[in-house]
Amino acid sequence: MSNTRRDFLKFSTLTVAGAAFLGKAIAPSTVFAQAAKGAKLPMVDEKADPTAKALGYHADATKVDTKKWAKRAGAEGAKQFCSNCLLLNGAKVTTEAAAPCSLFPNKMVASKGWCNSWVKNPAAK
Ligand code: SF4
Repeated sequence: MSNTRRDFLKFSTLTVAGAAFLGKAIAPSTVFAQAAKGAKLPMVDEKADPTAKALGYHADATKVDTKKWAKRAGAEGAKQFCSNCLLLNGAKVTTEAAAPCSLFPNKMVASKGWCNSWVKNPAAK
């Protein structure tokens, strides 16, 4: 093999390896993608998290005070859970017990939870 051809092959190999490394280094990474891969994120603490308190988040939606949070009152309100909220898990329906919510960066909420920012996910049943 000539030096020129050998040099070309070395250069090509390094270029492909470098491109692969850079691709991984700059690839967009979201909390949703990380969670989908099984990354463990802390759960939102409904008693300590200021956003959770402000939005009336409860890990158990059936414990929400519907006098204070009227949105979850009545038959329609009783159907509202994080599991069918548009803000859960990047709007991808999940059967997991917990998933990330757009309102709580780098944290998980309970699928059986609820908060006053609930929005129906049309993809959820
Ligand atoms: Fe749950 Fe939706 Fe509120 Fe997030 S925005 S805590 S998913 S009800």
